[in-house]
Amino acid sequence: MVYDEVLKDKFKRRKIVKTKNKLSKCLASSIPIEIRKDTSLLKYWRKRFRLFSKFDQGIKLDRESWYSATPEKVSRMIAKRCACDLIVDGFCGAGSNTIQFALTCKNVIAIDIDPVKIELARNNAEVYGVSNRIEFIVGDYYTLAPTLKADVVFLAPPWGGPTYIAQRIFNLDNIMLENGGGKQLYEATRKITENIAYFLPRNIDEQQCIQLAGEGNLVEFENNYFDKRLNSKTVYYGNLVTSCDK
Ligand code: ADP
Repeated sequence: MVYDEVLKDKFKRRKIVKTKNKLSKCLASSIPIEIRKDTSLLKYWRKRFRLFSKFDQGIKLDRESWYSATPEKVSRMIAKRCACDLIVDGFCGAGSNTIQFALTCKNVIAIDIDPVKIELARNNAEVYGVSNRIEFIVGDYYTLAPTLKADVVFLAPPWGGPTYIAQRIFNLDNIMLENGGGKQLYEATRKITENIAYFLPRNIDEQQCIQLAGEGNLVEFENNYFDKRLNSKTVYYGNLVTSCDK
């Protein structure tokens, strides 16, 4: 009798181990190829539903987009502030911000120099059912800027990958685009509209951002928190400044 119980217990434990192995195999096979190739991305994979709440409905990302995607909570907040008729997302990547803009704005123009990113953004916007409100353009933002009209422009240019945080203070000149740095990017955008939302690293040189606005003009810094940590800053210009009487 006692022997029987020991055996039963043994089988039970074996079953549990087998189920656990099955589960981890299942999970491993659902991990996208870019993560399996580079396990340093696993920390982003664990946050996938906070990057895109509809992640399991068909969201696609490439290696770069895993660490560049704006957490949905943050992009939703920015989109609320940028609500307007026509917004340009100048560096849309895989569409984390574009999707939220399409939920608060009538029309969105989403630009990226990389055709792969535009395909990802289009796919991801379809998952959220908002692709009909977005015009996707493959191209260089600087080249397109003189042809653009918009109420608001959102700028989330490349920060140079995750290493930006190694710098004590992030200089706008570290944004290295072919046609100039962060200051030139702002100047080129000012010709479209004064209503600019500039998405920048948390260690951005705030004095530089203030100087961009020009004398007498207001600037607002919004701290974006994710996982209880300061994740980034959005700097608002023009009519997007809300916290003071203008
Ligand atoms: P990083 O990880 O270095 O911060 P990101 O991946 O966030 O860079 O870059 C943002 C997006 O900007 C990328 O999808 C990239 O393809 C796009 N991009 C880079 N240069 C240009 C440009 N000149 N015009 C439009 N999009 C660009």
